[in-house]
Amino acid sequence: MKVLIVAEIKDGAVKKTSLELLSQAQQLNASDVAALLIGHGVAAHADKLAQHGAGQVLLADHEMLAHYTTDGYTHAVEQAAKSYQPDLILFSASINGKDLSPRVAARLDAALASDAVELSHNGTHFVAKRPVFAGKAYATVSVQAKPALVSLRANVIAPTAADAGKTAQTVAVELSLTADNLRTRVISEEKADGGKLDVAEADMIVSGGRGLKGPENFHLVESLAGALGAAVGASRAVVDAGWRPHGEQVGQTGKTVSPTLYVAAGISGAMLHMAGMSSSKYIVAINTDAEAPIFKVATYGMVADALEVLPQLTEAVKKIKG
Ligand SMILES: Cc1cc2nc3c(=O)[nH]c(=O)nc-3n(C[C@H](O)[C@H](O)[C@H](O)COP(=O)(O)OP(=O)(O)OC[C@H]3O[C@@H](n4cnc5c(N)ncnc54)[C@H](O)[C@@H]3O)c2cc1C
Repeated sequence: MKVLIVAEIKDGAVKKTSLELLSQAQQLNASDVAALLIGHGVAAHADKLAQHGAGQVLLADHEMLAHYTTDGYTHAVEQAAKSYQPDLILFSASINGKDLSPRVAARLDAALASDAVELSHNGTHFVAKRPVFAGKAYATVSVQAKPALVSLRANVIAPTAADAGKTAQTVAVELSLTADNLRTRVISEEKADGGKLDVAEADMIVSGGRGLKGPENFHLVESLAGALGAAVGASRAVVDAGWRPHGEQVGQTGKTVSPTLYVAAGISGAMLHMAGMSSSKYIVAINTDAEAPIFKVATYGMVADALEVLPQLTEAVKKIKG
Protein backbone atom coordinates (compact mmCIF):
# COMPACT_ATOMS: atom_id res chain seq x y z
CA MET A 1 0.00 0.00 0.00
CA LYS A 2 1.36 3.41 -1.02
CA VAL A 3 0.38 6.44 1.02
CA LEU A 4 1.05 10.07 0.14
CA ILE A 5 0.62 12.63 2.90
CA VAL A 6 0.26 16.31 2.11
CA ALA A 7 2.42 18.21 4.59
CA GLU A 8 1.72 21.73 5.80
CA ILE A 9 4.23 24.35 6.93
CA LYS A 10 3.29 27.11 9.34
CA ASP A 11 5.50 29.80 10.86
CA GLY A 12 8.59 28.16 9.38
CA ALA A 13 7.96 24.66 10.75
CA VAL A 14 6.22 21.43 9.74
CA LYS A 15 2.85 21.36 11.48
CA LYS A 16 2.28 18.69 14.11
CA THR A 17 -0.82 17.58 12.19
CA SER A 18 1.42 16.61 9.26
CA LEU A 19 3.43 14.35 11.57
CA GLU A 20 0.12 12.85 12.72
CA LEU A 21 -0.62 11.95 9.07
CA LEU A 22 2.72 10.12 8.88
CA SER A 23 1.83 8.27 12.06
CA GLN A 24 -1.55 7.31 10.55
CA ALA A 25 0.18 5.99 7.42
CA GLN A 26 2.41 3.82 9.61
CA GLN A 27 -0.58 2.50 11.55
CA LEU A 28 -2.10 1.39 8.25
CA ASN A 29 1.07 -0.67 7.68
CA ALA A 30 1.76 1.17 4.44
CA SER A 31 4.67 -0.33 2.53
CA ASP A 32 5.59 3.04 1.00
CA VAL A 33 5.01 6.40 2.60
CA ALA A 34 5.81 9.66 0.83
CA ALA A 35 5.30 13.20 2.08
CA LEU A 36 4.53 16.03 -0.31
CA LEU A 37 6.17 19.30 0.64
CA ILE A 38 4.70 22.31 -1.17
CA GLY A 39 6.02 25.87 -1.06
CA HIS A 40 9.02 27.92 -2.02
CA GLY A 41 12.37 27.36 -0.33
CA VAL A 42 10.89 24.65 1.87
CA ALA A 43 13.36 21.83 1.11
CA ALA A 44 14.94 22.24 4.55
CA HIS A 45 11.81 20.68 6.10
CA ALA A 46 12.26 17.39 4.23
CA ASP A 47 14.45 15.81 6.92
CA LYS A 48 11.85 16.41 9.62
CA LEU A 49 9.30 14.49 7.53
CA ALA A 50 11.80 11.67 6.95
CA GLN A 51 12.52 11.52 10.67
CA HIS A 52 8.82 10.96 11.35
CA GLY A 53 8.34 8.19 8.81
CA ALA A 54 8.34 9.54 5.24
CA GLY A 55 10.32 7.11 3.08
CA GLN A 56 10.68 9.84 0.49
CA VAL A 57 9.75 13.49 0.22
CA LEU A 58 8.19 14.81 -2.98
CA LEU A 59 9.18 18.43 -3.30
CA ALA A 60 6.88 20.86 -5.13
CA ASP A 61 9.02 23.97 -4.89
CA HIS A 62 8.04 27.00 -6.95
CA GLU A 63 7.88 30.74 -6.37
CA MET A 64 4.19 30.64 -7.25
CA LEU A 65 3.64 28.20 -4.37
CA ALA A 66 5.18 30.49 -1.76
CA HIS A 67 1.67 31.20 -0.44
CA TYR A 68 -1.28 28.83 -0.30
CA THR A 69 -3.68 29.15 -3.21
CA THR A 70 -6.28 26.54 -4.10
CA ASP A 71 -5.25 26.40 -7.76
CA GLY A 72 -1.50 26.26 -7.15
CA TYR A 73 -1.62 23.62 -4.44
CA THR A 74 -4.20 21.53 -6.29
CA HIS A 75 -1.84 21.44 -9.25
CA ALA A 76 1.04 20.37 -6.99
CA VAL A 77 -0.92 17.51 -5.37
CA GLU A 78 -2.31 16.38 -8.73
CA GLN A 79 1.16 16.23 -10.26
CA ALA A 80 2.58 14.40 -7.24
CA ALA A 81 -0.30 11.90 -7.30
CA LYS A 82 0.18 11.25 -11.00
CA SER A 83 3.85 10.43 -10.58
CA TYR A 84 3.70 8.61 -7.21
CA GLN A 85 0.43 6.70 -7.88
CA PRO A 86 -0.63 6.36 -4.23
CA ASP A 87 -3.46 4.17 -2.97
CA LEU A 88 -4.28 6.80 -0.36
CA ILE A 89 -3.71 10.56 -0.11
CA LEU A 90 -3.94 11.93 3.42
CA PHE A 91 -4.67 15.60 4.19
CA SER A 92 -5.07 17.35 7.52
CA ALA A 93 -8.64 18.52 8.07
CA SER A 94 -7.21 22.01 8.58
CA ILE A 95 -8.59 25.13 6.92
CA ASN A 96 -6.28 24.62 3.94
CA GLY A 97 -6.77 20.84 3.93
CA LYS A 98 -10.54 21.24 3.87
CA ASP A 99 -10.21 23.62 0.94
CA LEU A 100 -7.67 21.58 -0.97
CA SER A 101 -8.85 17.97 -0.58
CA PRO A 102 -12.23 18.23 -2.39
CA ARG A 103 -10.60 20.15 -5.23
CA VAL A 104 -7.94 17.46 -5.63
CA ALA A 105 -10.63 14.75 -5.44
CA ALA A 106 -12.50 16.39 -8.31
CA ARG A 107 -9.30 16.78 -10.32
CA LEU A 108 -8.32 13.12 -9.86
CA ASP A 109 -11.92 11.86 -10.16
CA ALA A 110 -11.39 10.23 -6.76
CA ALA A 111 -13.52 9.85 -3.63
CA LEU A 112 -12.93 11.81 -0.43
CA ALA A 113 -13.83 11.07 3.19
CA SER A 114 -13.43 14.37 5.01
CA ASP A 115 -12.76 15.15 8.67
CA ALA A 116 -12.12 11.52 9.67
CA VAL A 117 -11.50 10.69 13.32
CA GLU A 118 -10.49 7.07 12.62
CA LEU A 119 -9.07 5.35 9.57
CA SER A 120 -8.41 1.69 8.84
CA HIS A 121 -8.12 -0.69 5.88
CA ASN A 122 -10.40 -3.72 5.72
CA GLY A 123 -8.22 -5.60 3.25
CA THR A 124 -10.09 -4.16 0.27
CA HIS A 125 -10.98 -0.56 1.05
CA PHE A 126 -10.07 2.29 3.34
CA VAL A 127 -12.71 2.75 6.02
CA ALA A 128 -13.13 6.11 7.74
CA LYS A 129 -15.20 7.09 10.74
CA ARG A 130 -16.43 10.68 10.54
CA PRO A 131 -18.78 12.85 12.58
CA VAL A 132 -22.12 13.77 11.01
CA PHE A 133 -25.14 15.86 12.08
CA ALA A 134 -22.97 18.40 13.90
CA GLY A 135 -21.12 15.68 15.83
CA LYS A 136 -24.29 14.00 17.14
CA ALA A 137 -23.48 10.74 15.33
CA TYR A 138 -20.66 9.01 13.48
CA ALA A 139 -20.83 7.56 9.99
CA THR A 140 -18.51 4.80 8.86
CA VAL A 141 -17.72 5.17 5.19
CA SER A 142 -15.61 3.05 2.88
CA VAL A 143 -13.76 4.79 0.10
CA GLN A 144 -13.99 2.65 -2.99
CA ALA A 145 -11.83 4.49 -5.49
CA LYS A 146 -8.13 4.70 -6.16
CA PRO A 147 -6.62 6.85 -4.92
CA ALA A 148 -8.73 7.18 -1.80
CA LEU A 149 -8.58 10.66 -0.31
CA VAL A 150 -9.04 11.23 3.42
CA SER A 151 -8.69 14.35 5.52
CA LEU A 152 -7.89 13.59 9.15
CA ARG A 153 -8.96 15.68 12.13
CA ALA A 154 -6.14 17.06 14.31
CA ASN A 155 -5.13 15.23 17.49
CA VAL A 156 -6.92 11.94 16.74
CA ILE A 157 -3.57 10.16 16.49
CA ALA A 158 -0.24 10.93 18.14
CA PRO A 159 2.85 11.60 16.01
CA THR A 160 5.43 8.86 16.27
CA ALA A 161 8.73 9.60 17.95
CA ALA A 162 11.37 11.11 15.69
CA ASP A 163 14.32 9.10 14.41
CA ALA A 164 16.72 12.04 14.65
CA GLY A 165 19.48 10.57 12.49
CA LYS A 166 17.41 10.25 9.31
CA THR A 167 17.80 12.42 6.24
CA ALA A 168 15.25 12.65 3.45
CA GLN A 169 15.40 11.19 -0.01
CA THR A 170 13.91 14.04 -2.05
CA VAL A 171 12.24 13.83 -5.47
CA ALA A 172 11.21 16.99 -7.34
CA VAL A 173 7.59 17.16 -8.56
CA GLU A 174 7.21 18.29 -12.15
CA LEU A 175 5.16 21.47 -12.21
CA SER A 176 3.78 23.57 -15.02
CA LEU A 177 2.62 26.69 -13.28
CA THR A 178 2.00 30.00 -15.00
CA ALA A 179 0.29 33.14 -13.77
CA ASP A 180 -2.76 32.13 -15.86
CA ASN A 181 -3.13 28.91 -13.82
CA LEU A 182 -3.72 30.78 -10.58
CA ARG A 183 -7.00 32.59 -10.31
CA THR A 184 -6.10 34.04 -6.93
CA ARG A 185 -2.92 35.81 -5.85
CA VAL A 186 -1.89 36.40 -2.25
CA ILE A 187 -0.78 40.00 -1.93
CA SER A 188 0.01 40.01 1.78
CA GLU A 189 -0.58 38.02 4.93
CA GLU A 190 -1.61 39.48 8.27
CA LYS A 191 -1.32 37.47 11.44
CA ALA A 192 -4.44 37.81 13.58
CA ASP A 193 -2.91 36.69 16.84
CA GLY A 194 0.79 36.11 16.30
CA GLY A 195 2.50 33.55 18.48
CA LYS A 196 -0.68 32.27 20.12
CA LEU A 197 -1.53 28.59 20.02
CA ASP A 198 -4.27 27.86 17.47
CA VAL A 199 -7.30 26.14 19.02
CA ALA A 200 -7.71 23.98 15.92
CA GLU A 201 -4.46 22.16 16.63
CA ALA A 202 -3.93 22.54 20.36
CA ASP A 203 -3.73 19.47 22.55
CA MET A 204 -5.33 21.37 25.45
CA ILE A 205 -7.89 24.16 25.29
CA VAL A 206 -9.46 26.35 27.96
CA SER A 207 -12.61 27.98 26.58
CA GLY A 208 -14.77 30.66 28.08
CA GLY A 209 -18.39 31.60 27.47
CA ARG A 210 -20.95 34.17 28.52
CA GLY A 211 -20.79 32.84 32.08
CA LEU A 212 -17.49 34.75 32.40
CA LYS A 213 -19.72 37.88 32.62
CA GLY A 214 -17.46 40.18 30.62
CA PRO A 215 -14.21 40.47 28.64
CA GLU A 216 -12.47 41.82 31.75
CA ASN A 217 -12.68 38.33 33.31
CA PHE A 218 -11.12 36.45 30.42
CA HIS A 219 -7.69 36.87 31.99
CA LEU A 220 -8.83 34.01 34.28
CA VAL A 221 -9.20 31.76 31.23
CA GLU A 222 -5.88 32.99 29.84
CA SER A 223 -4.10 32.33 33.15
CA LEU A 224 -5.31 28.72 33.35
CA ALA A 225 -4.46 28.23 29.66
CA GLY A 226 -1.01 29.71 30.29
CA ALA A 227 -0.37 27.45 33.29
CA LEU A 228 -1.42 24.35 31.31
CA GLY A 229 0.26 25.37 28.05
CA ALA A 230 -3.19 25.33 26.44
CA ALA A 231 -4.86 27.46 23.76
CA VAL A 232 -7.70 29.87 24.60
CA GLY A 233 -11.08 29.14 23.03
CA ALA A 234 -14.45 30.88 23.16
CA SER A 235 -18.13 30.33 22.48
CA ARG A 236 -19.78 32.22 19.67
CA ALA A 237 -21.79 34.29 22.13
CA VAL A 238 -18.65 35.96 23.46
CA VAL A 239 -17.12 36.31 20.01
CA ASP A 240 -20.31 37.96 18.70
CA ALA A 241 -20.26 40.24 21.74
CA GLY A 242 -16.74 41.34 20.76
CA TRP A 243 -15.13 39.94 23.92
CA ARG A 244 -12.84 37.58 21.99
CA PRO A 245 -11.45 37.34 18.42
CA HIS A 246 -13.20 35.08 15.91
CA GLY A 247 -10.09 32.92 15.56
CA GLU A 248 -10.82 31.51 19.04
CA GLN A 249 -14.41 30.48 18.29
CA VAL A 250 -15.14 26.79 18.73
CA GLY A 251 -18.19 25.25 17.12
CA GLN A 252 -20.17 24.68 13.97
CA THR A 253 -19.38 28.13 12.58
CA GLY A 254 -16.02 28.37 14.33
CA LYS A 255 -13.21 25.84 14.55
CA THR A 256 -13.54 22.10 15.03
CA VAL A 257 -11.26 20.93 17.80
CA SER A 258 -10.29 17.53 19.12
CA PRO A 259 -7.87 18.12 22.00
CA THR A 260 -6.94 15.73 24.79
CA LEU A 261 -8.34 18.25 27.32
CA TYR A 262 -11.16 20.74 26.76
CA VAL A 263 -12.14 22.97 29.68
CA ALA A 264 -15.49 24.75 29.13
CA ALA A 265 -15.92 27.57 31.64
CA GLY A 266 -19.27 29.34 31.69
CA ILE A 267 -20.36 27.69 28.44
CA SER A 268 -23.89 26.25 28.29
CA GLY A 269 -23.09 23.56 25.71
CA ALA A 270 -25.42 24.62 22.90
CA MET A 271 -25.57 22.08 20.07
CA LEU A 272 -23.73 24.44 17.74
CA HIS A 273 -20.87 24.77 20.24
CA MET A 274 -20.68 21.03 20.92
CA ALA A 275 -20.54 20.33 17.18
CA GLY A 276 -16.99 21.67 17.33
CA MET A 277 -15.66 20.06 20.49
CA SER A 278 -17.57 16.90 21.40
CA SER A 279 -14.80 14.64 20.08
CA SER A 280 -12.39 16.03 22.72
CA LYS A 281 -10.93 13.23 24.84
CA TYR A 282 -11.52 14.73 28.33
CA ILE A 283 -14.07 17.49 28.77
CA VAL A 284 -14.15 19.48 32.00
CA ALA A 285 -17.24 21.68 32.44
CA ILE A 286 -17.56 24.50 34.98
CA ASN A 287 -21.07 25.88 35.14
CA THR A 288 -23.34 27.25 37.87
CA ASP A 289 -26.36 25.50 36.32
CA ALA A 290 -26.39 21.76 37.07
CA GLU A 291 -28.85 21.28 34.18
CA ALA A 292 -26.56 22.89 31.56
CA PRO A 293 -26.29 20.60 28.47
CA ILE A 294 -22.47 20.73 28.60
CA PHE A 295 -22.61 18.31 31.55
CA LYS A 296 -24.06 15.64 29.22
CA VAL A 297 -20.75 15.41 27.35
CA ALA A 298 -18.43 16.31 30.25
CA THR A 299 -15.99 13.76 31.64
CA TYR A 300 -15.71 15.87 34.81
CA GLY A 301 -18.25 18.49 35.81
CA MET A 302 -18.11 21.22 38.44
CA VAL A 303 -21.33 22.99 39.40
CA ALA A 304 -19.51 26.11 40.47
CA ASP A 305 -18.81 29.75 39.73
CA ALA A 306 -16.09 29.87 37.06
CA LEU A 307 -14.85 33.20 38.42
CA GLU A 308 -13.97 31.47 41.68
CA VAL A 309 -12.86 28.09 40.36
CA LEU A 310 -10.57 29.21 37.50
CA PRO A 311 -8.00 30.95 39.77
CA GLN A 312 -8.00 27.93 42.09
CA LEU A 313 -7.37 25.56 39.17
CA THR A 314 -4.60 27.82 37.89
CA GLU A 315 -2.90 27.80 41.30
CA ALA A 316 -3.27 24.00 41.55
CA VAL A 317 -1.75 23.47 38.09
CA LYS A 318 1.15 25.82 38.89
CA LYS A 319 1.81 23.93 42.11
CA ILE A 320 1.84 20.56 40.34
CA LYS A 321 4.11 21.87 37.61
CA GLY A 322 6.38 23.45 40.22
C1 LIG B 1 -26.21 29.61 12.82
C2 LIG B 1 -25.60 29.54 14.20
C3 LIG B 1 -24.30 29.11 14.34
C4 LIG B 1 -23.71 29.04 15.62
N1 LIG B 1 -22.43 28.63 15.73
C5 LIG B 1 -21.87 28.56 16.96
C6 LIG B 1 -20.52 28.15 17.13
O1 LIG B 1 -19.79 27.86 16.18
N2 LIG B 1 -20.01 28.10 18.38
C7 LIG B 1 -20.75 28.45 19.48
O2 LIG B 1 -20.20 28.41 20.61
N3 LIG B 1 -22.01 28.84 19.34
C8 LIG B 1 -22.59 28.92 18.10
N4 LIG B 1 -23.85 29.39 18.00
C9 LIG B 1 -24.51 29.95 19.18
C10 LIG B 1 -25.03 28.89 20.13
O3 LIG B 1 -26.29 28.48 19.70
C11 LIG B 1 -25.12 29.47 21.56
O4 LIG B 1 -25.92 30.63 21.55
C12 LIG B 1 -23.75 29.84 22.16
O5 LIG B 1 -22.88 28.74 22.05
C13 LIG B 1 -23.93 30.18 23.64
O6 LIG B 1 -22.73 30.63 24.18
P1 LIG B 1 -22.45 30.51 25.73
O7 LIG B 1 -22.54 29.10 26.14
O8 LIG B 1 -21.19 31.26 26.00
O9 LIG B 1 -23.61 31.42 26.37
P2 LIG B 1 -24.96 31.00 27.15
O10 LIG B 1 -25.76 30.04 26.34
O11 LIG B 1 -25.54 32.28 27.53
O12 LIG B 1 -24.41 30.21 28.39
C14 LIG B 1 -23.73 30.77 29.45
C15 LIG B 1 -23.57 29.68 30.49
O13 LIG B 1 -22.80 30.17 31.56
C16 LIG B 1 -23.34 29.67 32.78
N5 LIG B 1 -22.92 30.60 33.84
C17 LIG B 1 -23.42 31.82 34.18
N6 LIG B 1 -22.68 32.37 35.15
C18 LIG B 1 -21.69 31.50 35.43
C19 LIG B 1 -20.60 31.52 36.31
N7 LIG B 1 -20.37 32.56 37.13
N8 LIG B 1 -19.78 30.46 36.34
C20 LIG B 1 -19.98 29.38 35.54
N9 LIG B 1 -21.01 29.33 34.66
C21 LIG B 1 -21.84 30.37 34.60
C22 LIG B 1 -24.83 29.64 32.55
O14 LIG B 1 -25.43 28.70 33.42
C23 LIG B 1 -24.89 29.19 31.09
O15 LIG B 1 -24.96 27.78 30.99
C24 LIG B 1 -24.45 29.45 16.74
C25 LIG B 1 -25.78 29.88 16.58
C26 LIG B 1 -26.34 29.93 15.34
C27 LIG B 1 -27.76 30.41 15.21
